[in-house]
Amino acid sequence: MSEHRITEMRVHWVSVPARAVHSHGSGDVAGINAALLELVTDTGLTGWGEASPWPVFTGTLEAAAAALHVHLRPHVIGQDPVQVEPMMTQADRVLVGHSEAKAALECALLDLTGQITGLPIADLVGGRHRDTIPLSFSVANPDFDADLDDIAQLWDDGVRIYKLKTGFADHAFDLMRLERLRTTYGEAIRLRIDYNQGLSAHDAIRTVRDLEAFRPDFVEQPVKMHEREALAAITHAVDVPIMADESVFDPRDAFRGAAARIADIFSLKTAKSGGIRRCIEVAAIARAAGIEVYGGCMFETSVAHMAGAHLMAAIPDLTLGCEVYMSTYYAEADLAAEPFPVRGGQVHVPQTPGLGTVPDADKLAAYRTELLT
Ligand code: MG
Repeated sequence: MSEHRITEMRVHWVSVPARAVHSHGSGDVAGINAALLELVTDTGLTGWGEASPWPVFTGTLEAAAAALHVHLRPHVIGQDPVQVEPMMTQADRVLVGHSEAKAALECALLDLTGQITGLPIADLVGGRHRDTIPLSFSVANPDFDADLDDIAQLWDDGVRIYKLKTGFADHAFDLMRLERLRTTYGEAIRLRIDYNQGLSAHDAIRTVRDLEAFRPDFVEQPVKMHEREALAAITHAVDVPIMADESVFDPRDAFRGAAARIADIFSLKTAKSGGIRRCIEVAAIARAAGIEVYGGCMFETSVAHMAGAHLMAAIPDLTLGCEVYMSTYYAEADLAAEPFPVRGGQVHVPQTPGLGTVPDADKLAAYRTELLT
């Protein structure tokens, strides 16, 4: 127990336009729509968390905001913020699903607990295996010439990992982009492919086989999230490693997915699993099954991205990098008071107590569309 109690809870809806539309097998995204959770204690501490749902993937912003503002609020106000697991267990008891809202709550609690104990979140949840993580950028602009200009700029910044979003146009467009990037940057570029569920199960295997000539590190989520048998069949049939993203949310999904060997790699996202600590459980199940893990992200501001950075520092066997690039290279503005720590193509995990980032009050006000108190 600590002497701190949570006395205030605010949910800030923000909408931050993107510099360019990103297209995916499951639709276009033109910006970040987030519910930022602010918890305040009677001792004057403030903790932040974020829910940034994608309606075709994890849910809606309206549902996430209502989950926090209406349904979880009675179980948060008056509580001791260091009692993280009992509060998250209670959240699971009173509210089914809503993994993004629960991730936001857990992040804000860990932010407060870190400030109370003097520990960064990565150290609080078990300690850090690394202080820097290689960053991946997603090549998803339907205007590929604009993407090439961006990649040239990012290359100068030291970014060497690029994930092509595929399956939103025709197969020839995907092959052309892969060939262009492999030819231009040779073996120095690390290429990945993400279909975001965009292929049909009946022709996914031959489509994925076409891509293998370009030596991608992995092919992500070729088929629909619930088509786990098809995903397992593709994983079995092709040489390139297959990653499950939409098909693996929480530890239960990871357990079933590992047992059925639906993929070679699982993508970790706090928004899917309901927080950093549940993601560590997913990673533990993957490790036990000989499945690799990867640091994914949603369309998020610096708050959720920083939670992802702490998570990835704490995972023992993360070897494929991470993709918390939105606040640096996608959003029109970074809401954080200090720029998100990407330097030389690496994410630098904060050493300061708690989350290590806080929204700037003026930027928050400028991009806020609603405030629930
Ligand atoms: Mg994905």
